[in-house]
Amino acid sequence: MTQPDTEKRPSVGLVSLGCPKALVDSEDIVSRLRSEGYDIVSGYEDADLVVVNTCGFIDSAKAESLESIGEALAANGKVLVTGCMGAKPEDITRIHPKVLDVTGPHQGEAVVRSVNRHLPRPHDPRFDLVPPGGLKLTPRHYAYLKISEGCNHKCSFCIIPSMRGRLVSRPLGMVMREAEQLAERGVQELLVISQDTSAYGVDLKYQADYWRDREWQTRLYDLCDALGELGIWVRLHYVYPYPHVDRIIELMNAGRILPYLDIPFQHASRRVLKAMRRPAASENTLERIRTWRAQCPELVIRSTFIVGFPGETEADFEQLLGWLDEAQLDRVGCFKYSPVRGAAANDLPDAVPDEVAEERWHRFMQHQAGISARRLQRRVGGIEPVLVDSMEGDTAIARSYGDAPEIDGQVIVAHAGDATPGDALDVKIIGSDAYDLHAEMAEAPELRPVDAL
Ligand code: SF4
Repeated sequence: MTQPDTEKRPSVGLVSLGCPKALVDSEDIVSRLRSEGYDIVSGYEDADLVVVNTCGFIDSAKAESLESIGEALAANGKVLVTGCMGAKPEDITRIHPKVLDVTGPHQGEAVVRSVNRHLPRPHDPRFDLVPPGGLKLTPRHYAYLKISEGCNHKCSFCIIPSMRGRLVSRPLGMVMREAEQLAERGVQELLVISQDTSAYGVDLKYQADYWRDREWQTRLYDLCDALGELGIWVRLHYVYPYPHVDRIIELMNAGRILPYLDIPFQHASRRVLKAMRRPAASENTLERIRTWRAQCPELVIRSTFIVGFPGETEADFEQLLGWLDEAQLDRVGCFKYSPVRGAAANDLPDAVPDEVAEERWHRFMQHQAGISARRLQRRVGGIEPVLVDSMEGDTAIARSYGDAPEIDGQVIVAHAGDATPGDALDVKIIGSDAYDLHAEMAEAPELRPVDAL
């Protein structure tokens, strides 16, 4: 007989800040806490203790993290801090001496031990509530898949390697078992993330591993090929344009993974790239993009750029705009350079005045908006599969293969009937603007499993 739940379970509030990699850490933390019988609650007030997963990527992110810690302390009083800012605990305890404990990034186990210490865990076998694969903070139909932690590069504007350490890849079998569990739970799209996806397996010397009774190597090509077995969408983020990526395009052509690449180019001027100490700075990226597009014409490329980096001249910036014209990237984000405490770029001469960086940012965005709009326009008239993220009345807010959640545009599908989030639809693209596509149902609403796409 089921016993009544007479005792309130200890509850933990989680504030998750920062990038998808930090979100995966948060998912790990809530999964571990739920498996130990803690309730996870959303507000500070309902929680017995609050965990703040911080971001320390740029100074504004650090300020936001410190502010969240202050809010949690004021509203709740019992606060543990983890995440990127935890790599330098003194930065936190100097301002918030009352936090109970500080742990660094990717330390789910240490966080749970700390929660156990400050909020003793319940002993009750009824609380085995976690599904295989852990709990996800993303919607049911997509999930981030972290394949490695840390980074071997030394980009001058970035302090992630000093916070997260050198590259540590997860063996292929481990990644694939997690991916398989997610697919079995109904996830229809996996977003592969890391600091440097192209470097996957380098640290393990591409060691052999087993999945589904077959030997694979822990390297990006094998991982993509194996993920292609799952019959769901697989999207690659944070890839660098190394020659070995050419082979990944073959897998896109074969329909194993989505023809989508997120490559953070950051700039096009060799001089600036050298000052940034970017990986693959000496590669001829335009040539590589041309080759990929010849191999796989529907390839969608997304990227991010920094303008106003120290030493960037008007000529460097003009070169970047010219490069954008040649590269014809589909989706682009742009940031104005801002110094990060501890980053090597802070010592570079010739800082670009704020007003110049601001003006370049506007020119960049305007320039790229025209390119993005023309790229999207080419798809008008076609029939494409989309995944529904949400419904507004009978309008579906969906995404195509060319749109990653949160960062890219959407496909707005009119009269989508009673579709629900996670449904796969075939739609006809009838219009476009600078960021989004507009569509109607290709035929009568027909819902299909995503592996039929
Ligand atoms: S590749 Fe560069 S920007 Fe990315 S995490 Fe590594 S050092 Fe930072």
